Amino acid sequence: MSITVLGGGISGLTAAYYLSIVRKTTKVNLYEASSRFGGWIKTDINDKEGYIFEAGPRTIRPKGLAGNNTLELIQLLELENKVWPITAHHVAAKNRMIYVKNKLCLMPSDIKGALRINPPFSKPLYYGAIKDFFGWKSKKRLDDESIYSFTSRRFGKEIADYAISSMICGICAGDAKEISVKFLMKNLFEKEQKFGSVLRGIILDFLLNGSERTKSPSFQPTPLYRKAQIERWSIYTLQGGLQTLPKVLENKLEESESVSLNLNSNCKKITFETGGPAKVMINGITHKAEHVISSLPSIQLSQLVSHQHPILSNELKMIKCVDVAVINLHYKKDLLDYQGFGLLVPPMENLPILGIIFDSCCFGMKDRTVLTIMCGGKWFEKWFGKDPNELQLLNVAMENVGKILNIHEKPDNYKVNILKDCIPQYVVGHHQRVERIRKYIEDNKLPLSLCGASYDGVGVNDVILSARLAVEKLMPV
Ligand SMILES: Cc1cc2nc3c(=O)[nH]c(=O)nc-3n(C[C@H](O)[C@H](O)[C@H](O)COP(=O)(O)OP(=O)(O)OC[C@H]3O[C@@H](n4cnc5c(N)ncnc54)[C@H](O)[C@@H]3O)c2cc1C
Repeated sequence: MSITVLGGGISGLTAAYYLSIVRKTTKVNLYEASSRFGGWIKTDINDKEGYIFEAGPRTIRPKGLAGNNTLELIQLLELENKVWPITAHHVAAKNRMIYVKNKLCLMPSDIKGALRINPPFSKPLYYGAIKDFFGWKSKKRLDDESIYSFTSRRFGKEIADYAISSMICGICAGDAKEISVKFLMKNLFEKEQKFGSVLRGIILDFLLNGSERTKSPSFQPTPLYRKAQIERWSIYTLQGGLQTLPKVLENKLEESESVSLNLNSNCKKITFETGGPAKVMINGITHKAEHVISSLPSIQLSQLVSHQHPILSNELKMIKCVDVAVINLHYKKDLLDYQGFGLLVPPMENLPILGIIFDSCCFGMKDRTVLTIMCGGKWFEKWFGKDPNELQLLNVAMENVGKILNIHEKPDNYKVNILKDCIPQYVVGHHQRVERIRKYIEDNKLPLSLCGASYDGVGVNDVILSARLAVEKLMPV
């Protein structure tokens, strides 16, 4: 069987790996439009000074089914000794801040913290739990709602305004008032809809059915997952930066005779013929494929199928992405007054940045300061217009580092990355849209599978799992 994989980001590379090396398919052709593999995962290494700048993702969570799956992949790739964990005891795991009313506020990280008043909250966080436990749900059963509306309704407005809105900025650079509750809290939302309260739902469900994990037959903790649990990893990266993962995948795929890796190969059109192979047009040449796995952002895929499947194309086009500017700054001295993972800025503060990550604190870069400032997202155009230049973004980053962290020195090195359409927005109704997309593909018997960040989760773990599931569905064991 010959399979075409479109896109050479982490999900496309993983799909090709599962197909060729784990499942030993006869032939896999992977086409990547740009001149490098890895997609949004991009690490710049400063060999001389020994620090790195991450342009995209920097850490992975070792939790749950998807976290376990990535750790299994890391084991398969023999990368265990490159894993660089941040454990729960580390200051970067404990100290996460938000910037509200010109002040840095530490978010509670344990039960003790939830029992006291932590500014900017006017009550201890456990009040939110009480509100939920004794509160009533709306009589009308909901299919979906925004995560802001859900958390505000169940736990109170302050939790929605400060904690949830900032978290959504940090995860998908989006507006909590638009993002679906199912993006992060599907389970909690369903429990609330069923039992009338999230907490009551968790307790009753546990008493009736046991723990979530034991319910999932596919959850088989790998040795590395167990190690992560025992050592209490909070998050981790890889030595050499996160780009180590796509780089090693690329090397393994290059060694395999059944895989052809193609850079600078822009797919412009896919044509499906009843009962026959798909025709994939790459750089003006048509290639035949028995099956296509697309790891492309849905908005890109929508253009490739529009001539033949306008309904599918329109649905794919509706999954919009936002632009994010990522500015990395390096200073030769340790200038941070605060230790921690970094800070997020809730949208109600109306500042042009989403947050600042303290890379040097997270990854023990002593005697220097490395910061990453994220800007834009849902509010990119409002702050920077359609086509800002790098200097404009650098100045915004430095101004806010000055204002928030009191660092007024000029960095001795910096990098500005403008990432266009980089994070899909799972707005209210997203999950129903993805179901319709998959149903259309199935009903029309298209030899097409979807994976990547546009559908079932935007994190590295999610897209790796999506690639695995696409391969397993295509080639059941
Ligand atoms: C700034 C930022 C920070 C993030 N931080 C984190 C984090 O800390 N932790 C985390 O878990 N996740 C994070 N993420 C999310 C994570 O980066 C993504 O989930 C992941 O990289 C998506 O990988 P992918 O392979 O699905 O898509 P992509 O990386 O988008 O890869 C798709 C590939 O398809 C190629 N392509 C597009 N069109 C065509 C075409 N027509 N023909 C051929 N090829 C094409 C593209 O060039 C690209 O290489 C972050 C994302 C961003 C943008």
